[in-house]
Amino acid sequence: MEKVKFTIIGAGVVGLAIAAKLSEKYEDIILLESNEKYGQETSSRNSEVIHSGIYYPENSLKAELCAIGNKLLYNFCEKYNIPHKRTGKLIIAVDNHEIAELEKLYEQGQKNNVDNMQIISENEIKALEHLANGKAAIYSKNTGIIDSHSLMKQLYHQAEQNGVVFCFNNTVNLLEKNGNYFKIGVEQEDYEFQSEIVINCAGLNSDKIAKLVGIDIEKHEYKIRYCKGSYFSYSQRLPIERLIYPIPHKDLAGLGVHITIDLGGRLRFGPDVEFIDELNYDVDISKRASFFEGAKKLLKDLDIEKMQPDCAGVRPKLAGAGVRDFIIKNEKDKNLDGLINLIGIESPGLTCCLSIADYVEKIISENLS
Ligand SMILES: Cc1cc2nc3c(=O)[nH]c(=O)nc-3n(C[C@H](O)[C@H](O)[C@H](O)COP(=O)(O)OP(=O)(O)OC[C@H]3O[C@@H](n4cnc5c(N)ncnc54)[C@H](O)[C@@H]3O)c2cc1C
Repeated sequence: MEKVKFTIIGAGVVGLAIAAKLSEKYEDIILLESNEKYGQETSSRNSEVIHSGIYYPENSLKAELCAIGNKLLYNFCEKYNIPHKRTGKLIIAVDNHEIAELEKLYEQGQKNNVDNMQIISENEIKALEHLANGKAAIYSKNTGIIDSHSLMKQLYHQAEQNGVVFCFNNTVNLLEKNGNYFKIGVEQEDYEFQSEIVINCAGLNSDKIAKLVGIDIEKHEYKIRYCKGSYFSYSQRLPIERLIYPIPHKDLAGLGVHITIDLGGRLRFGPDVEFIDELNYDVDISKRASFFEGAKKLLKDLDIEKMQPDCAGVRPKLAGAGVRDFIIKNEKDKNLDGLINLIGIESPGLTCCLSIADYVEKIISENLS
């Protein structure tokens, strides 16, 4: 049976960043992807925001990798001319009773070493964004937007030029520990091969890949719930330059319906939070009224008739209580040394793609190579 050193499962932004990173140093890397092209799932269905890392619990991987990832991503964009913009963002307390929450969030940002962040007054909000409503806001200057397709294209080309073999239309349906190797099979071909190291970046299916290799995903709390987020776009250009967010949900299930602008200046509202059993990306027009209610708290003079259903994305949210962190680990303690699982890579996964790749490379260089 053919043997390779590394197999990466999934060509979303995380799998691509890992492929680009590992291929700078190692050879013999294969990447298996279900779809006919890279980046067709969550990585192309999100807000395209480069987060600064304010929200996440102190010392979590999300906080650590977001702070590092934010800087790495801006540098990468500048180096390779990836379209992006350091817009800045306002997190707004819309009335006085939200100010205590806002201050708590600011302290969280400080604990997470987020720089270029300050609390501003009602007048200062107006001076920055005259259409915004708010009594006070956190102004985060290191938040921005990115063209995620250009980012993935660059990562793909780097990996390909470094010799990574991309196998599209290859859905992994067999993963078995076999001595020092993992036996791998795919749905579309009657063919099996062996790999010394397997990196599971299968996004919404990453728990299923873990199950395939025999991990009890209930016991280890690896089970993913689909958490859909829909967007509405606005047909009129408005003079808004910064991203505008409400105070987030307490459990961080989502960041609240917020207002983003894309690099073309188009306004979008969303994403909301809806747990679903079957994957679907339809945007239900009947949600328009509730989106409007959320958005008009943040922004004046909106017209509901100008809000149109846009796209939706699905978060791979880890089941279980509280705010769950990213799972990124070599599964040595489960007798699966060489399997690196990445599970629950929801937001800020796009921001973190390069820091996640560095983190995985470190696991490999310190433990597996
Ligand atoms: C609504 C929403 C808004 C978001 N907004 C932001 C944001 O503004 N900023 C931010 O930083 N992050 C954001 N995120 C999070 C970010 O989009 C994700 O963290 C990131 O895209 C995850 O990338 P990935 O490569 O892990 O997953 P994916 O992009 O889902 O890639 C996984 C890949 O694995 C493949 N795959 C699955 N199963 C198999 C199999 N069996 N065999 C082979 N291949 C397989 C899939 O086809 C897919 O291509 C948002 C997410 C959502 C849903």
